[in-house]
Amino acid sequence: MAPEPYAFLGGKQVPLADAKVGIMTHALHYGTAVFEGVRGNWNEEHGKMYVFRLREHYERLLRGSNILRIVLPYSVEDLIGITTDLLERNGYRQDVYIRPLAFKSAQLVANLKLHEIESDFSLMVVPFGSYIETEGAIRCQTSSWRRPEDTMMPTGVKLAGLYTTGILAKTEAVMAGYDEAIVLNQDGTVSEGTGENLFLVRDGVLNTPSETDNCLLGITRESVMTLAREEFGLKVVERRMHRSELYLADEVFLTGTAAHLTAVGELDNRKIGSGEMGPITRRLQEMYFDIVAGKNPKYMHWCHGVTPGGG
Ligand code: PMP
Repeated sequence: MAPEPYAFLGGKQVPLADAKVGIMTHALHYGTAVFEGVRGNWNEEHGKMYVFRLREHYERLLRGSNILRIVLPYSVEDLIGITTDLLERNGYRQDVYIRPLAFKSAQLVANLKLHEIESDFSLMVVPFGSYIETEGAIRCQTSSWRRPEDTMMPTGVKLAGLYTTGILAKTEAVMAGYDEAIVLNQDGTVSEGTGENLFLVRDGVLNTPSETDNCLLGITRESVMTLAREEFGLKVVERRMHRSELYLADEVFLTGTAAHLTAVGELDNRKIGSGEMGPITRRLQEMYFDIVAGKNPKYMHWCHGVTPGGG
């Protein structure tokens, strides 16, 4: 029998089955939380789990916490230590998804404020395979839902409340038979997927919506921009993008911790490029998969190694 999984809550490791919050928890009612999605990739040959860009995930979590006035007694270093300890204890020897959550934990309802509301931090780990197709190309639908503007809610960090929109969009797309939704801004320009950033390739140039297009500042996005520029010498432009540019693109792909790099073969029942994964997407994806599994010595600084059981 597999050992009992542990989580982290209230400043200590506890059995996952006991990691509970009350129904009066502020975050449960109002979405007053920020979270992260982090992947640990199992490398059988090294006998290690490589957690991809853990530091950057915690830096983003603390930036989001600051916006929501969530005060945690932990530094980035502390959070990396808490995560390492939990992964060692759980001992998974397979790919995992790691979910840190910083939330307003006060047992208070009808209290619409952020100050003087206490906070807590939780962490859990679950075995995780593929979230979305990465071998072939997926079919997407432009959503009837729009990405909230930064004037409505801060969009660059992972605020829990923002995900209501993404979930409405994803549900609509999947129930209509598509794999994923592409979400536009209020003015009809492109923002991102529901849990992924978006890239468009045209004439060998990578284009992606910029920070002011309300997309999340994705860590995979930043990694892909670095690889495109530094390893493949490609030009990368962050800019506003019309919806119809997606139909005209040679390649479109999505990036995210859960989704990795996923080619979009079809949008709104129109083929993009050949309708299959394009050559630039493929080259980037191959390099990215090697890097996240700790197989590219040049990028080991992006991988935090953990040995199950410690040591
Ligand atoms: N956009 C949204 C809305 C997301 O939820 C995610 C997943 N965190 C991304 C983009 C991609 O971000 P990252 O590469 O940091 O996982």
